[in-house]
Amino acid sequence: MPSRRKAIKSLVSVPFIGALLSPEKLTASTNIVNNLNTNLTRDYFKELGIRTFINAAGTYTSMTGSLMPKEVIEAINYGALQYVNLDELQDKVGERIADLLDCEYATVSSGCFGAMSIAMAGVMCGKDQKKVKQLPNTKGMRNEVIMQDSHTIGYAQALTNVGAKVIKVKTAKELEKAINRKTAMLWFLNANTDRGEIKWKEFVALGKKHNIPTFIDCAADIPPVENLFRFTKMGFDMVAFSGGKGLRGPQSAGLLLGKREYIEAARLHTPPRGETIGRGMKVNKEEVLGMLAALELYLSRDHDAEWKVWEDQINMIADAAKSVGDVETKISVPAYANCVPTLRIKWDQNKLKISPDELRKQLRDGDPSIQTVGDKNSVGITTWMMVPGQEIIVSQKIKSVLENSKNS
Ligand SMILES: *Cc1c(COP(=O)(O)O)cnc(C)c1O
Repeated sequence: MPSRRKAIKSLVSVPFIGALLSPEKLTASTNIVNNLNTNLTRDYFKELGIRTFINAAGTYTSMTGSLMPKEVIEAINYGALQYVNLDELQDKVGERIADLLDCEYATVSSGCFGAMSIAMAGVMCGKDQKKVKQLPNTKGMRNEVIMQDSHTIGYAQALTNVGAKVIKVKTAKELEKAINRKTAMLWFLNANTDRGEIKWKEFVALGKKHNIPTFIDCAADIPPVENLFRFTKMGFDMVAFSGGKGLRGPQSAGLLLGKREYIEAARLHTPPRGETIGRGMKVNKEEVLGMLAALELYLSRDHDAEWKVWEDQINMIADAAKSVGDVETKISVPAYANCVPTLRIKWDQNKLKISPDELRKQLRDGDPSIQTVGDKNSVGITTWMMVPGQEIIVSQKIKSVLENSKNS
């Protein structure tokens, strides 16, 4: 595992670029390409006419998730050069991850969504090869998955895709009543923890009481690092994370952690096995290694130092916006999912004659392009997906657009 010191170095070596180059010279693409320190000879995005951007928004699938650190890219490049047996690789990486995260077993999945599908398929079929081949037809299987109404989001499609039927409940009482011979899994969405009546421990206890496996979707719940350990320890049978969000691994990879029995059953649906519902959810050897490297690097990182960087960056941007006058800023950390310093910028639209949408458009259309999030009343920013140094550009740009709106 990389040493903590080395990890800090790889983190703090990046802002250096910001210090060396004047902000005007820093464009989104040259900045990152230089940072890779490789002999890149082709600029594919430019050739294709695709604009790259500074990601001041967060880990959005549409914005291609996160940027992989050098160590992860090295693992991917390493993996590309030799053949191995895919199952053996998954077996051994699964053991290694389970060791690192102090849980029973693990596997690298095709994203958190893929983890949900193969886990659901696994609990429905067990180790029965005939059933494996039969999906999405669930005749003769337990095929119901129970979740709280408030936890039902679009991603539940990962469960119905493999043939499961979603049963929604509101209370613990309703949940117990909904359990029957067909119940295959109890599913929990960590991001919506505060919206549901049933919380973690009660949920796990209900699963144990009725002998039904529990699953928690923690896709966007890194940081904090503790979450990698917390939910398996709490007793959830399966825990899933996105690889390409806070872990900064390959965007199409993910982690499924938990009980060996369920993960082995989930693996029966994955490549190289062909007559399965999960055949298309392939994780190649490069991404399996990339995911492992990303996890090791993440565990060795100085999380306090990283947090401090994010705080400093977000404060710089908030201060720049406030310096215009008639601007309000609020920095908060969501309680669940995307738990990083998050900035909201609002202003008096009678004084600064620009809407949040127009500000965001000008940032997007500018050079370099900057992506943010927002609604009718405010613009939202996080810095964790930026290359350190880019906060300078974002600060200056927001300030100048807001200032111009004053004069117009
Ligand atoms: C991002 C996300 C997913 C999907 O994860 P992928 O790694 O993109 O497959 C599932 N659930 C939640 C709550 C998410 O935020």
